[in-house]
Amino acid sequence: MELKTPYFLIDEAALEKNLRILKSVSDASGAKILLAQKAYSCFATYPLIAKYLDGTAASGLYEARLGKEHFGKQTHVFSPAFREEETEELAKYCDHVIFNSPAQAKKFAPFFRARNISCGLRVNPERSTQQGHAQYDPCAPCSRLGTTILEFDESVLPLLDGLHMHTLCEQNSDALEETVEALEEKFGKYLSRLRWLNLGGGHHITRGDYDIPRLLSLLVRLRERYGLQIYLEPGEAVVLNAGTLVSRVLDIVQNGMDIAILDASATCHMPDVLEMPYRPPVRNGGAPHEKKYTYRLAGPTCLAGDIIGDYSFDAPLCCGDEIVFEDMALYTMVKTNTFNGMPLPAIALKKEDGSIRVLKTFSYENFKTRLS
Ligand SMILES: *Cc1c(COP(=O)(O)O)cnc(C)c1O
Repeated sequence: MELKTPYFLIDEAALEKNLRILKSVSDASGAKILLAQKAYSCFATYPLIAKYLDGTAASGLYEARLGKEHFGKQTHVFSPAFREEETEELAKYCDHVIFNSPAQAKKFAPFFRARNISCGLRVNPERSTQQGHAQYDPCAPCSRLGTTILEFDESVLPLLDGLHMHTLCEQNSDALEETVEALEEKFGKYLSRLRWLNLGGGHHITRGDYDIPRLLSLLVRLRERYGLQIYLEPGEAVVLNAGTLVSRVLDIVQNGMDIAILDASATCHMPDVLEMPYRPPVRNGGAPHEKKYTYRLAGPTCLAGDIIGDYSFDAPLCCGDEIVFEDMALYTMVKTNTFNGMPLPAIALKKEDGSIRVLKTFSYENFKTRLS
């Protein structure tokens, strides 16, 4: 099958390198590591990931089903609020269900427990360790995510096997240490009465400067002190630097500067560039004016703000040139949309032997069928 830009290219060797690191953490600590599907749900690669990780974490019914059907092993689900009519189906997929409030636990835990499903409560340790991205901080003021100690209700304890917290975003083990300290201050007295503790995601374990020994000593201490099974559910760390988005220059226009219009869109294909926002790395691209030729890279939609960023190159760009965005496996394929009638990028896999396998292509139908 011919591969036309734009397309996502998942790098199997890079993915497996991450998986080996994560497996070494679970082997050394006894913690179980789950793939948070919210970040990455390309299930064609689940069989490979399942060789190394212990299961999946889902944000709701559909992810839970995907994890159960294509990954297997353990399926954990957390939702800020479950709905009555989905519990029957969820019970078919999940072995762990995590509630966001004591009210939800009281409402649904008896149903799940009667089906041998382990129940937990997400708590909020109320210790922010990230600056800047309030949008990604579940400990930000007035956060709806997790039960605070003030709202905690001891009468739910008999319904619970575990506690869950998720407070980090792209952070190192020092931030986890600080958050666990806050967790122990507030909820420590309950931990030895429970069977498991899920420390959520946001652990950038596969990043070069991540302090793994510090993580391991924390995990081992928690296990030994409270007799808990620890779970981690990273998303980003599983596929960090394990994929690219390959695009092409369609036209170059001038208005105060050189602007290259690409066939990839920020708003449709990498919306976090605008939402987070952040500047994605471009292969062979430097900061503006660092190299001789500076361009604004922009998308082909009608949104004026569909701008990826300003980058410099050693040679002038021409129509047809390939532009490769790095680190595009995470929070991209799961977030693409067809705004403006944009085609969705194909998804391909670069195998360890260098060959490329096309996993999925999209067409006009994928745009049309969502609209009526
Ligand atoms: C987003 C999320 C994760 C994964 O976070 P990453 O930053 O991708 O590691 C894990 N658990 C929960 C509850 C989440 O909301």
